Order: sequence, then C-alpha cells, then structure tokens
Amino acid sequence: MTTLMIDAGPASPDSPLTRTGGVPLAPAGTEWPCCASCEGPMQFLAQVVLNNLDAGASESKLGVLALFACQNDPGMCSDWEPASGGNRALLFPLDGLEPLPRPDGAEEALLVLGAVRAVEPHQEPGDDYHLAREAWAARSDRPESSVLGQLGGDPAWIQGDETPSCPSCADTMPFVVQLEEGPDHSTAMNFGGAGCAYAFACAPCGRASLLWQC
Ligand SMILES: [Zn+2]
Ligand SMILES: [Zn+2]
Repeated sequence: MTTLMIDAGPASPDSPLTRTGGVPLAPAGTEWPCCASCEGPMQFLAQVVLNNLDAGASESKLGVLALFACQNDPGMCSDWEPASGGNRALLFPLDGLEPLPRPDGAEEALLVLGAVRAVEPHQEPGDDYHLAREAWAARSDRPESSVLGQLGGDPAWIQGDETPSCPSCADTMPFVVQLEEGPDHSTAMNFGGAGCAYAFACAPCGRASLLWQC
C-alpha cells in the first residue's frame, strides 16, 4: 500500500493538519530556524502530522513534522544535505502548538510559499510510489501533479539511497514523508527542478532529517 498525498486545495495558513505552505505551528518559545551558512531565516515548506502513519507506533511518540529549507541564495547553502545546516526538520508533540512568530527584523526578508495546499491522504494498492501515482491520476482523471508526495512507505529515490542516521542514537532513521515540489511553478518548493524531498524521523529521540534530490 502507498499513502499518496493528494492536493485538496487551499487551506487556512495556520491549519493544524498536513499541508504545504502557510505558517509553521510550534511550541511556544520555538525560534524560527536560520541557515547555518548565510544565517538568514529559512523558508517554511510543509507541516506533516505523523500520528496516523504507522498503526503499530505509539501515538504519543509521534507528532508533527515541520520542514524548512534555506532559499535566500538558492544553490549556495547546501539545503539538499541533511547535516549541512541549510535545512531543518523539526519534530513537535501534537498538542500545544501555536503559529510560529516570524523572526525579529526579518519579516520582509522571509520567503514564503505562495500557496497553502491541504493534503488529503489516499491509500493506493502497491508499494511503488510512481506506479501508485500514475494509477491514481489515471483513475481519478487528475494530473499526476495533484499528487504532492507520499506518507511513509518506501522512498522513491531519484538518485541513490541516502537514508540518514539519527544524529542522537545513530540508528537508521525511519522514512516518514516524500514531497514533490508542487503543481504550480509560481508557488513550488525548490528541490532543484522536478526534484523530491525526503524526510526521516527518529521518534524516540525526537529528531528528524530532511534532504532532497533531483
Ligand atoms: Zn542560507
Ligand atoms: Zn534516534
């Protein structure tokens, strides 16, 4: 089974559900992530509610994933590498989240995705993401670009397998979400042009990692 992320249209920018774009939700006191290279505030990409991904996992251990990448000088901050400091994947508990205030002094410099898209999960038979995406598009008479990615399952790597290790416990990190750039070029995320991002989370350590390939 592949859990596709279907574009369900516009969403409220502070919706507590899985979405791309909008405003990140975070515990009070969280600081807006800044890039290790250029030190500027990162672009918020997506929020993914992980609690229903794995029926076998303890609900209390999962939470909400917030994904960020530096777009201040595209190509210069190694935002495709999980350990570069050019991107950030934050794992938060589900409860007590509030809209993350924009960083002081950087309100105008902050790059924001031009659209907020709600994600409707859809279960498609088979474990191959690309085949599931094709099959869903053909049957529903919608473009493949309406598939925004997949939740859990097996990453469909564009390049080789780059599954990271957890920075805390050093175990292989479980894969949690794959994101497409998005259906509209003017509001798309930048994963190098028709690339995909891959996020991983180690729930016991509360750590997450993000990388992209194209
Ligand atoms: Zn940067
Ligand atoms: Zn760990």
